[in-house]
Amino acid sequence: MRSVIDAIGNTPLIRLKRASEETGCEILGKAEFMNPGQSVKDRAGLFIIRDAEQRGMLRPGGVIVEGTAGNTGIGLTVVAKALGYRTVIVIPDTQSQEKKDALRLLGAELIEVPAVPYKNPNNYVKVSGRLAEQLAKSEPNGAIWANQFDNVANREGHIRTTAEEIWQQTGGKVDGFVSAVGTGGTLAGVALGLKAKRDAVRIALADPLGAALYSYYTSGELKADGSSITEGIGQGRITANLDGFSPDFSFQIPDEEALPIVFNLIQEEGICVGGSTGINIAGAIRLARELGPGHTIVTVLADFGTRYQSKLFNPDFLRSKNLPVPDWMEREPNIAV
Ligand code: PMP
Repeated sequence: MRSVIDAIGNTPLIRLKRASEETGCEILGKAEFMNPGQSVKDRAGLFIIRDAEQRGMLRPGGVIVEGTAGNTGIGLTVVAKALGYRTVIVIPDTQSQEKKDALRLLGAELIEVPAVPYKNPNNYVKVSGRLAEQLAKSEPNGAIWANQFDNVANREGHIRTTAEEIWQQTGGKVDGFVSAVGTGGTLAGVALGLKAKRDAVRIALADPLGAALYSYYTSGELKADGSSITEGIGQGRITANLDGFSPDFSFQIPDEEALPIVFNLIQEEGICVGGSTGINIAGAIRLARELGPGHTIVTVLADFGTRYQSKLFNPDFLRSKNLPVPDWMEREPNIAV
């Protein structure tokens, strides 16, 4: 490998034992936490930067500005460091401390802003867009806005890599794909890529509470109720990456359904992932029930769980959100030394 960039993608497809046994389907997870930035968003980071280079928008030493829940910032910064660019990352203050620490460690210039809805001009995405405009004028080597939500280089990365890999790894024997949506790059990109190979592949949206897409795809209305502690997912509008896409099935998944899946996966299968992966696997289980036994369903193991140690795996945090705390989380080791 010539650089860390070559370590992005070609992630393994892992059989999820309990989900498969419970449904009689083969439920497979694409291990995106094995990317160098430990999430699925390394792919978007790489494709967005390569696309900007090809358009002649990035000069050596140039700045990449982005608004992100964290993982895209990490992916962009990994790629930027390897290629000689800088990153300025705008993140809502509600995101986990671990993601902010990782960004600082990697050398991103981090700007924390209060979490406000997209329609507010001080929303992190809008702040990052304005900042990019400003820096484009003042930075000697220029600046670009990655704009992951509406930059379709993001979904192109999933059409060209994630979908292609899933097709190869399953030998074309894939009946369904399920994912939650942040930007929609993963879901729409893999859907377009797989459907181009085999139109009968069924695509499902797994939406957390507090997102508006489940309501949009089932009733035509963008409406959100409830909330979720998951990070990086839960969209309130039709982004450019979602344009022209519609799922065959839509599921709305409460945290009470998703989190036990994450906890079991660590305890029983040695797979350590974040909350959005719980939504993804819950969606895969629901799709398996719709399609019936004997089908192969792929979903995404979106990022590594240690990124949420202070929240998802913190009993006090779970209690503060009225979520059940699994026994093992508070058990002391019972070994005398
Ligand atoms: N899971 C996590 C943990 C994420 O950070 C993201 C991206 N923000 C997603 C899922 C959703 O991916 P996408 O942006 O491709 O919809």
